[in-house]
Formats: sequence, structure tokens, C-alpha cells
Amino acid sequence: MKNTVYYLDKPGGTFTPVEETLPEPAPGEIRIKILRTSVCQSDVVIYRQGLPRIKAWPAVILHEVSAKVEAVGEGVTKFSPGDLIGIGCDIPCGDLSCIYCGREGTGDWTSCPNTQATGHEFAGFARSHAILPDWFVELGPIAKFEAGFDADHACQLEPLACCLEGMTRVNRCIDNRIVVLIGAGSQSTYALQCALAMGARKVILVNRGAERLERVLRDFGNERVVGITWDEKVVENVLAECRPFNEPHFVMVNAPAEPGYRLAVQLMGYGTVMDGHAGVKGAGGKPRIAHEVDLNNDIHYKLQCYQATHGSGPHGINLARELLAGKKLPLIGKMTDATERFPHTSIHDAIRRAADPDSLKVIIDWE
Ligand SMILES: [Zn+2]
Ligand SMILES: [Zn+2]
Repeated sequence: MKNTVYYLDKPGGTFTPVEETLPEPAPGEIRIKILRTSVCQSDVVIYRQGLPRIKAWPAVILHEVSAKVEAVGEGVTKFSPGDLIGIGCDIPCGDLSCIYCGREGTGDWTSCPNTQATGHEFAGFARSHAILPDWFVELGPIAKFEAGFDADHACQLEPLACCLEGMTRVNRCIDNRIVVLIGAGSQSTYALQCALAMGARKVILVNRGAERLERVLRDFGNERVVGITWDEKVVENVLAECRPFNEPHFVMVNAPAEPGYRLAVQLMGYGTVMDGHAGVKGAGGKPRIAHEVDLNNDIHYKLQCYQATHGSGPHGINLARELLAGKKLPLIGKMTDATERFPHTSIHDAIRRAADPDSLKVIIDWE
């Protein structure tokens, strides 16, 4: 059958559609029809400057996806034609005996030396159809949704999963706690919705630009949500909002820049958990961000926890599926407005829109 694949020739280049022939799925494989892809900030970076993990150009990018199962190979019992699915980005390495990714593995796919991800080492979903290999079907991050579930929401499984990995790696840091989110982009907006769904006492959103902060507060805020402008008084203002506590319980760095980490460490008090969620990288690589922590007075006596999450595995994917399928994120449709929807013939425009300072989640329609 006919498959339209959009190849990006080089960073900063053009997407060219190429018609290819797709075979019937072999035993253990499934063939899927792409319904939606959403644009991640990493796609913006990949588009602009490439990524060392992408070794071959032209490349097929985009990793946030929802799809419909069209055909299943012999022996596949988990999926049937017609199933609506969402797919994660980090995937097993394909070695069924791998201690991280295999049948008896821990599920810590991103710790595997041969870790791979869709839209990176593995082809992304800027294509009308795809065949998923047998190991992907058996062990990979594929979440099934009931018939009639919104494909727009299902394609946001992956960014939500990443967010939830960060919010659940340490127990009891959200429910009835004060949550600070640094940055007001899509990851913070998912975290805000998840924190409310998980019973946070208060969510404090910190952002430099007023435009996006206003949009997020207007569309996702309630009496438990406070916005603070990131200016010279930000530390003082955040701590004042934590009253009657002296400090926040959870601080998530969702701004992929050094100042986000500099701010986070100033907010660490008794029992604070910091999630270094957004990695910092530029054309010059990944800079070192040094900070001194006293293992006795800060870690032991103040019970501080410095942790990070990067990507997602089965744990985050399952949590994201539960929140989505259980309709626990009732405002998720507001992540995307009319200016953030594009047909698959306009991938470049979609990526450009995702780079705008006021944009939250751009969705590309493949139907
Ligand atoms: Zn993503
Ligand atoms: Zn592995």
C-alpha cells in the first residue's frame, strides 16, 4: 500500500513528501495510520540545529503521535484493527534479553546504553502510515484508548508521560503540597493540570513573559493557582505565596536554561524536592551548571531532594494514559487554539508556530 513520508533533508531544510510502498505487517508487527502528531520543543531544536542522536539525514522527525491500528500481523493479540493508540518517544532497544528494555527488564529504557527514541534514532511519525516492529508491539510505549476518544488528546500522551515521570519519581511531593513550576510552556502547563488532578494544595507558576503566563492562568487557572512574574523579586514573592509554609515542597524546572536552575536552588527549603526536568543544551553542547550542596545540612538535616527526569518509560506512559482515559485533565483541549492547528502539508509552518513565545501545543492533522 501507499505511504507518504515527509523527509527533512537537513537542519533548517525542507520537508519533502515521498510516496513509498508499505508491505503487509509481518508476524508480530502492526501497521498504523497516523491521525495526529503534536510538536515538541525538541522538534523545534532538531529542525533548527539537528541533534547528535540523529545520525542519518534526510530524517523523519516528530515523535508525539496518535494513530489508528490498521492491520495486525500474525500472532498479535494486544491490538486489533480500529484501535486508537498513543505512542511514547523513548522506546526499548529491541533486545528482548536487555535488563532495561527486555521481557524481564526494569523498564528504565533511557538508562540502556543502546537507548533509542522515535524521531531520533528510530524514524519519527511525519508520515501517513508506519509499521511497528514486533519488539515495539510487544514491549514498547503504546497506550490503547477506547473507541471515540479524542485523537488530539491521545497524541499528547508522550509529553504528559514525561511530565508525570518528574512528578512521581519521589513519593508524596504533590498531593496536598505547594508546587512551583518554573516556566509557563507546555511542560509546565501539563504539570499544572496534573498537579491539580493529583490534589496539590497550591500551584505557583513562574514565568518571564507576561503573554504566555496570562494565557495559562486564564485557561488553566483556578483558586489554587497563582502566577508570578520572574523579576528581581521572584524568590521573595514565591516564598510569600508558600505561606503558611516556609518553602515549596516541589520545584520543577521546566525552563530549559541555566537561570531556571539558579532560581530553583534558591527556593530549596525543608523537604523540598527539585526536579531538574528541562535539560539545557545549545549549539555548544550541554553546559555544566555548578551548584554546591551540603550533604549533611541540606540533604540530611533539611531532607532536600535533588532529582531529575528525562524522557519517559512504562511508568509515565501508564500514568498519562490513566489521566487521559479517566478524563482527569478536562482542560487539555485548551493546549491548542485555532492558530495552532496545521495540515500535514504544512509541517514547517507548524514548527515555526511552535517556536512562538505564546504558543502551547501545535497539532498536525494527518486525516
Ligand atoms: Zn515530546
Ligand atoms: Zn536495552
